[in-house]
Amino acid sequence: MQQPPLQDRLGRPLGVVRLSLTARCNLNCPYCRPEGKDLPGLLGVEERRELVAASVDLGAHTLRLTGGEPLLDGDLETLIKVLQPLRPRLRRIALTSNGLLLSAERAKALRKAGLDSVTLSLDGTDATSVARMSGRRDGGWVLEQVLAAIEHARSAGFDPAQGGLKLNAVIQRGVNEDQVLPLASLARQRGLELRLIEYMDVGNRNGWHPDQVLAAATMVSRIDSHWPLQPLGREANATHRRWRYRDGGGMGAADALPISTIASISEPFCGDCNRLRITADGFAYPCLFASSGTDLRPWLRPWPQPASLRLALADLWHSRSDRYSEERAELRGSTTPDSSLPPHAEMAYLGG
Ligand code: SAM
Ligand code: SF4
Repeated sequence: MQQPPLQDRLGRPLGVVRLSLTARCNLNCPYCRPEGKDLPGLLGVEERRELVAASVDLGAHTLRLTGGEPLLDGDLETLIKVLQPLRPRLRRIALTSNGLLLSAERAKALRKAGLDSVTLSLDGTDATSVARMSGRRDGGWVLEQVLAAIEHARSAGFDPAQGGLKLNAVIQRGVNEDQVLPLASLARQRGLELRLIEYMDVGNRNGWHPDQVLAAATMVSRIDSHWPLQPLGREANATHRRWRYRDGGGMGAADALPISTIASISEPFCGDCNRLRITADGFAYPCLFASSGTDLRPWLRPWPQPASLRLALADLWHSRSDRYSEERAELRGSTTPDSSLPPHAEMAYLGG
């Protein structure tokens, strides 16, 4: 018999699991500030498989592998392979990466293992901006690696026209806001969807301040004045709003989705949030802005207990009522962080 869909206290279904594979990174983006060392007691492939299987049983249809930098995990291909029996209920396995380690061979191996899509992060199109946003002095080299990674992914069969290859860019007011147009131009030339992300108050180490947020509407209007955009709106349970170029630029196809914006600060979308985050050491966070998570390891160690794990995850989702971004906007009528609240967990730990 078909199970009724699992919903939280605000009627939101579980749809997407974001599984962080490591809190470590080979970049040091100042807006993210990952730990230099990894967490103790990282989950193994079998434990991760159990977690994804339980989430899929509870209704999750999409898995996003993230971090820290997920390509630092040498077991990534093995994990993707062992998840294949969860198809077709698991519709999509996606990866978000900074691309530095995405060689031609790695891209092919990931595709062969069964990865469906790759989103690469790049916050500028010149060496100076990339250096500033990635925390590395050799911004020119980082840029070259990411541009090469885009083509490696494309050659391996990750097709932008099918949503298989996208570009993420975080835009910070006064830091890389001059990169909005160059990034749009790059994405148009390379036929990629560009996802413009507002700088979010996740974590504590980045020293977030509302003055550093460039509203998504401003990013869009800057692009629109060069290449007019047609709004396509926001789908239910999506975190992004979409636009297409009126001149058919970008991917060219009539149904192309060349620009999307993730406006967590200026236009909170908690009501549509269907994401469960699981950290690399096995804690579940139903909200990106939470300060603590639920330890899932008691149902994984010393050996997995699948039935109890499903019950624990179902309980967690049923009791979920977080709507931090909306409250931030409503309660304070502004975007200023409340210093009386417990500190948020860090972005590279949660996986975005
Ligand atoms: N290392 C990978 C990468 O950078 O793509 C995956 C992990 S990273 C935490 C996931 C996404 O979160 C990236 O696109 C990154 O740009 C974004 N991100 C990190 N910190 C952010 C912040 N404070 N505000 C908005 N986006 C952020
Ligand atoms: Fe690393 Fe990604 Fe964080 Fe940048 S955003 S430091 S690439 S985890």
